[in-house]
Amino acid sequence: MKSNENRKLISLFCTLIMILSLCGCAAKQNKYEPYTLLPREFLLGETLDENGNIILPDETIQLTAADIQSMNHGNARMCFNEEGYLTFLNGRYYDGRIEDQEDAVASLQGIAGLLGLGAGSDFFCEYGEKNNNTGYTYYTFKQRYGEGTMENGTLKVFIDPEGYAAGLSSSFVPNLGYAEPVDWVAPQQAETVITDTVYPGKNITVYSEYTQKVAVTYNETIYSAYAVYTDNFTQAGQDAGLPYLVSYVNWDGTYIDTYATSVLSGVETDQTASAYFEGMKPSTYTGTVWLQDGSSTSITVPIAYDAEKECYYLMDVDRKIAVADRTMFFDQGFVSFSSSSDGQTWDNNHLLAFYNYIRVYDFFANMGIYSIDGTGVPILVCCDWLDDYGEPFDNASSSGILRGWAVFSMSDANHFSEAVDVIAHEFTHGVSGYMRGGDIYMNHTGAINEGFSDIMGNVVEMSLGATTDTQWLIGEMSGRVLRSLSDPLLSSNPIELGGQYYAPPVPPSEVDNEKNDRGGVHINASLLSQMSYKLYQYGMSLEEESRLWFTCMGLITPKSDYNEIYEALMMSVKMLELDQRYADFLTDAFQKAKLIS
Ligand SMILES: [Zn+2]
Repeated sequence: MKSNENRKLISLFCTLIMILSLCGCAAKQNKYEPYTLLPREFLLGETLDENGNIILPDETIQLTAADIQSMNHGNARMCFNEEGYLTFLNGRYYDGRIEDQEDAVASLQGIAGLLGLGAGSDFFCEYGEKNNNTGYTYYTFKQRYGEGTMENGTLKVFIDPEGYAAGLSSSFVPNLGYAEPVDWVAPQQAETVITDTVYPGKNITVYSEYTQKVAVTYNETIYSAYAVYTDNFTQAGQDAGLPYLVSYVNWDGTYIDTYATSVLSGVETDQTASAYFEGMKPSTYTGTVWLQDGSSTSITVPIAYDAEKECYYLMDVDRKIAVADRTMFFDQGFVSFSSSSDGQTWDNNHLLAFYNYIRVYDFFANMGIYSIDGTGVPILVCCDWLDDYGEPFDNASSSGILRGWAVFSMSDANHFSEAVDVIAHEFTHGVSGYMRGGDIYMNHTGAINEGFSDIMGNVVEMSLGATTDTQWLIGEMSGRVLRSLSDPLLSSNPIELGGQYYAPPVPPSEVDNEKNDRGGVHINASLLSQMSYKLYQYGMSLEEESRLWFTCMGLITPKSDYNEIYEALMMSVKMLELDQRYADFLTDAFQKAKLIS
């Protein structure tokens, strides 16, 4: 999040993106073993004979958009990308019942042409889960190319409570085709390219456990490459609150490019975070905290006693949330919990951050989302964020899952620990990234990401009664207003696409140069976030708002732009059986903001 008084982007609040945390312990959702289609197994009806030759079916029936309309009595709603492939469908596209992931794959057969799933298409079902709020089941697929998983290649299929296809959302790259088998260099060699050739002489930390084979689009070419994750030592990256770099190294060891990011993508198998909570004796602390306006209040928080070390920690054993030192965690690589020998003496800012993260955690848990990944990954609230000179760094951020912890950062340079909207904003980055199945933190998709975080930030804060603000300001309880959702122009944020204050998209090569807010991710957040205030004014309750936006977040994929967001909102209204007036109101508001034509 940045305040754009000066266009210098101190972008507070970065993104978390999550990307499929594949941690095996799915308490709240059904996790499937990765299920990779044999090439040609289903799509377009092709099969192989015993000699491995392709047998084409006599007749491959592929639905057209008109066919889908007639299946839906003219009420289907669709979005298409620039290449003409389907990116969002609100409507039925398959007549059979869908009871498992294989049925979900089979359902795509007739729509493969519209989606661009040509011969050689390869993907796997990552997970399927029933949404507690809507009763719909979502199957999430990831696209494969050769040995790698396509970056941001996510497709979701939505099944209604009766078991029938209700729609889909796709960020698949159309017609990827077959990947030539390649002779990969060793992963360590790819890492060496980054440390020794691209950034020689820099003291870089490589997160080797995340080095992985992926497919990535660069200059409109698909590469089979390693994604190598490191810390982000660049000033621009740190100012933007993006703690990591992802560098792509082609299979043959050729360097491709590097981007700043706030998430480490990949298989998360680290269970050490949970282990920290074992053997801790739960207790509570009640005491006074001082607020930035000079007042004080009494709070009660859970703490934990470590009998071995004979001290107390700011640690919630039930929810698995703890407070720790940020520098120790990021720079030294180990966890130093906020501690007290008597359980009575605590840092004021640590207490406030801890207290408010617990409140936000509970809000999401009440909606069926436990921690940022929905399965309860432990949370580390990293306090005392410092810059390179050891001074408190003015930011707050969400940094994905690192070493088994969902990581958030807080600082003494501000009072964001008192602002539930800021904390819920960061928490939402974690949740929305997980739900979206990837992240493109730039331009419109980045602004949509920030918009969701501002919306939920305010909705959570108001629902918890944590503010007296009626203008839907962001950050007001910290003594500093960052943005206004009721009057975006007041905080120099646009109210229409292309209008005053609107920040135009930038090419990927310029995204990390900090001067342009990554194509307006914070500046343009108002284009979406203003809708929540307008709905509230129109009569929508906070409870309806949270369900609406939360449902919408579950229907989108990484490339979803305003067209798809709009259709996802229309679909959410239907799925939640909200008043149709809200859909009509949103249609008008999206048109006024020039987000749809
Ligand atoms: Zn943000």
